[in-house]
Amino acid sequence: MPDGITQNDLSAFWMPFTANRRFKKDPRILVSAEGMYYKSHDNRDILDGTAGLWCVNAGHARPKIVEAVQKQVKELDFAPTFQFGHNKAFELASRLRDLFPGDLDHIFFTNSGSESGDTALKIALAYQRARGQGTRTRLIGRERGYHGVGFGGISVGGIVKNRMYFGTLLTGVDHIRHTHDMEHNAFTKGEPEYGAHFADDLERLVTLHDASTIAAVMVEPMAGSTGVLMPPKGYLKRLREICDKHGILLIFDEVITGFGRLGYATAAERFGVLPDIITTAKGLTNAVIPMGAVAVRKEIYDTMMDKADAPIELFHGYTYSGHPVAAAAGIATLDTYREEGLFENALALEPYLADAIHSLKDHPNVVDIRNMGMVAAVEMSARPGAPGERGYDAMVKAYEMGAMIRVTGDIIAISPPLMAEKKHIDDLVGIIGDTLKAVA
Ligand code: PMP
Repeated sequence: MPDGITQNDLSAFWMPFTANRRFKKDPRILVSAEGMYYKSHDNRDILDGTAGLWCVNAGHARPKIVEAVQKQVKELDFAPTFQFGHNKAFELASRLRDLFPGDLDHIFFTNSGSESGDTALKIALAYQRARGQGTRTRLIGRERGYHGVGFGGISVGGIVKNRMYFGTLLTGVDHIRHTHDMEHNAFTKGEPEYGAHFADDLERLVTLHDASTIAAVMVEPMAGSTGVLMPPKGYLKRLREICDKHGILLIFDEVITGFGRLGYATAAERFGVLPDIITTAKGLTNAVIPMGAVAVRKEIYDTMMDKADAPIELFHGYTYSGHPVAAAAGIATLDTYREEGLFENALALEPYLADAIHSLKDHPNVVDIRNMGMVAAVEMSARPGAPGERGYDAMVKAYEMGAMIRVTGDIIAISPPLMAEKKHIDDLVGIIGDTLKAVA
């Protein structure tokens, strides 16, 4: 137990997505952060290999963002956006409109990725109804998809543990197959060659349910939380074509892939595929203040404005939608990304990160390595009869050796802040190499 901390101090906080009993016996406590590093309770520098939780994309305690937050708290700490407005929310929305591709021109603010997911699904349903297609009530997700923990998100998401404990979930939801194919694609750098045809699984569901019952399909362009699964070459384009053919909306969950993780403002831009709706959060404010945003194409917004059957066109919103302090953090974050060329840095470092991480190929138990932009994963084989145990031990060992990594089961994921330099990649990959040996 860290000095000065007792069991009692830890007991009140029911920690999210954490084995509480295990953690509280052997806690990992972080006390401060700057740039690429956390400081641990025992005064060690911990290299942030995961940008917090895929969210501190500009690095920690960036001066411009800190100042913007401090100034905003003093100037306008809160103002409602129900029936009132304030400049920071309008400004951030305009900035996002300019940043996002195509005619993703209208922005709805939320407070998290989960809220963005549920908001997107509700907009999709309301839009289909407004345009006279009210029979389109079915939602389609993908196996191994993560869209947060609201009921919409866990229903459309494809993770058994997120779903199995919580009743029957939303009805009328179905899933296409995931795109992870180790037989053909293990150890691929970037997009795997094999698997565009996995998108055709959507045709199967259209045949099963009829297109006239399907409102939207939601996928992560690159699935982050379930192990960094890259889209096969041509897969997203094919999904777009099938959606177009059948009048189905395509929603990209860009909560992880947005804001530079893959070297562009959005994965939509990187892959040259324009979805109808994009959900974001995390890197939007560099995680300094919680915020999410949903971007919709012009046609969706215009239809809702013209055809919704009530003066309030969308009966949806959060007390903190467009919160002034979050919006100020968002504007300063976008400035930081641009001024420091952080998206470009992620793209420029991609080959270096690729070579570094793939150099671990022959380490013990490694069954796959994959990477793109400033994200990578090392998949390990599970210990017999104990899936996830090797992964858990790897996370603990890496922390002891001075790096924060993220594990999903037995998959190690890294997603450092985009300000990372070669030396940080070297240190991180060095620690992962030692970790692989330690958990062999
Ligand atoms: N979608 C994706 C793709 C995510 O990775 C996450 C969080 N990891 C979410 C949604 C949910 O975001 P939040 O935890 O902010 O609700």
